[in-house]
Amino acid sequence: MAKLVILGAGVAGHTAALHAKRMLGSHHDVIVVSPNSNWNWIPSNIWVGVGKMPVSKVVFPLAPVYKKKGIDFHQARAVEIHPEGSDAHQRGYVVAESTKAGQEGTREEIEYDYLINCTGPKLNFGATEGLGPEGNSLSVCTSAHAEETSKHLAAAIERIKAGEKMRFVVGTGHGTCTCEGAAFEYTFNLDFALREAGVRDKAEVVYLTNEAQLGDFGVGGLIFTQQGFQTTSKLWTESFFRERGIQAILGAHCTKVEPGVVHYEQLDGSFHELSFDFAMLLPPFRGADLKAYDREGNDISDKVFNPAGFLKVDANYAAGGYENWRAEDWPKTYQSPMYDNIFAAGIAFAPPHQISQPRTSPNGTVITPAPPRTGMPSGMIAKAVVQTIVDRVKGVGAPAHEAPMTGMGAACVASAGMSFLGGSAAAMTMHPVVPDWQKYPNTGRDLKGTSGEIGLAGHWMKHLLHVLFLYKAKARPFWWIIPE
Ligand SMILES: Cc1cc2nc3c(=O)[nH]c(=O)nc-3n(C[C@H](O)[C@H](O)[C@H](O)COP(=O)(O)OP(=O)(O)OC[C@H]3O[C@@H](n4cnc5c(N)ncnc54)[C@H](O)[C@@H]3O)c2cc1C
Repeated sequence: MAKLVILGAGVAGHTAALHAKRMLGSHHDVIVVSPNSNWNWIPSNIWVGVGKMPVSKVVFPLAPVYKKKGIDFHQARAVEIHPEGSDAHQRGYVVAESTKAGQEGTREEIEYDYLINCTGPKLNFGATEGLGPEGNSLSVCTSAHAEETSKHLAAAIERIKAGEKMRFVVGTGHGTCTCEGAAFEYTFNLDFALREAGVRDKAEVVYLTNEAQLGDFGVGGLIFTQQGFQTTSKLWTESFFRERGIQAILGAHCTKVEPGVVHYEQLDGSFHELSFDFAMLLPPFRGADLKAYDREGNDISDKVFNPAGFLKVDANYAAGGYENWRAEDWPKTYQSPMYDNIFAAGIAFAPPHQISQPRTSPNGTVITPAPPRTGMPSGMIAKAVVQTIVDRVKGVGAPAHEAPMTGMGAACVASAGMSFLGGSAAAMTMHPVVPDWQKYPNTGRDLKGTSGEIGLAGHWMKHLLHVLFLYKAKARPFWWIIPE
């Protein structure tokens, strides 16, 4: 009997757990360790954040699903990995601290034969003074944050209706943030909500971003064909903002958020401040800050994880400068080079480098989007890792399954509005996520799989995805037919 432990029950961890149990059956143990009792379909937090969807529609309790499927769920936060075991443990083990009501902080040691780290991002609000809901800005990264943000938005709209003018600032709260697609989508939804409320003319909407140009989205921008002509995501996003009267401040690193004022530095080295009435600024991400120890109890965290706390996998971390970066630097199997029974999936794996061109201000401040690992790649990587583990458990002598981000596509669909015909979406697809300039010398990506479109089709698609992914995550009949 093999024991698979999965840390995290988000997009990657939950996908891994359901597939692993389905493929391994009842003869092997699948254990999930994750601090939250609920699963959250994070992409739909955007709609919660503008008051278009209640929290209850984006979360559900994990325990009943895991019970039904025979998955052992520990509501706990992993804090340590001991890949070599110890005198008391013949196998590797994880130390986890309970987050269950009444048992908070109780530690347990959970042995494993295989471990998948799917701990996603730690929302690092602390990187910028005053950033985040416990400081002076808002967020939509969790369902609770999004709910709070929607209340602030509703109050702001009431104040505008009562005669005030307001400035809304949306974007990234640090020079190294990722998830610009989410900030873009919230901006789009905010604009839509303000128009719907009839107050857009009294509201200034500013998009404050670490991207050097609009349409970068942390993937170095896109080149695609639209109505037979090649265009760029830069032109596309610029025209999108121009049509909606949204101003953009580019190449910005937020240095501090005070009540009603955000301070930022720009790529040219200049420093500015911008007053606001409402600010939704995403945090930068770190790894979950797990510690790793060898058999003797020596701290080996800096060997197992990168400095940002993400697990090192089968990537080339020694490519050096931007000019050396190649698609093949990116991982394929997501296996730890130190321990062949440890893997990482989703945001938890350490990318070899950014996808966007790195940029630094004359003051030495890094202002470059970190590489996104969005939902679709996170799920696909998790499934490939599970297939590798299942092969090994079953003694199939096949090579590890591969899911390189240089060979998979992703979609970013920013959808606003809830009505069937009255909504709209800006939809982008890209293939591959990480451009391969050797394979596609002029565009970095395959034009057949890379597109941008604004209209109703993407709007319906996004709503369909919401329904399908929740269905799948609840492990309803034939859930596995729905692709990642
Ligand atoms: C507002 C927003 C909108 C987004 N919209 C989209 C979108 O439209 N499309 C898209 O593709 N992607 C979108 N994304 C990105 C998408 O949510 C992520 O790519 C995806 O959630 C990553 O999956 P993950 O499993 O790596 O991390 P997560 O889904 O964040 O899961 C991480 C899990 O690990 C758990 N965890 C954390 N620390 C520990 C620990 N120490 N021990 C055990 N467990 C731990 C967490 O509780 C969580 O369950 C959006 C992100 C945000 C923030």
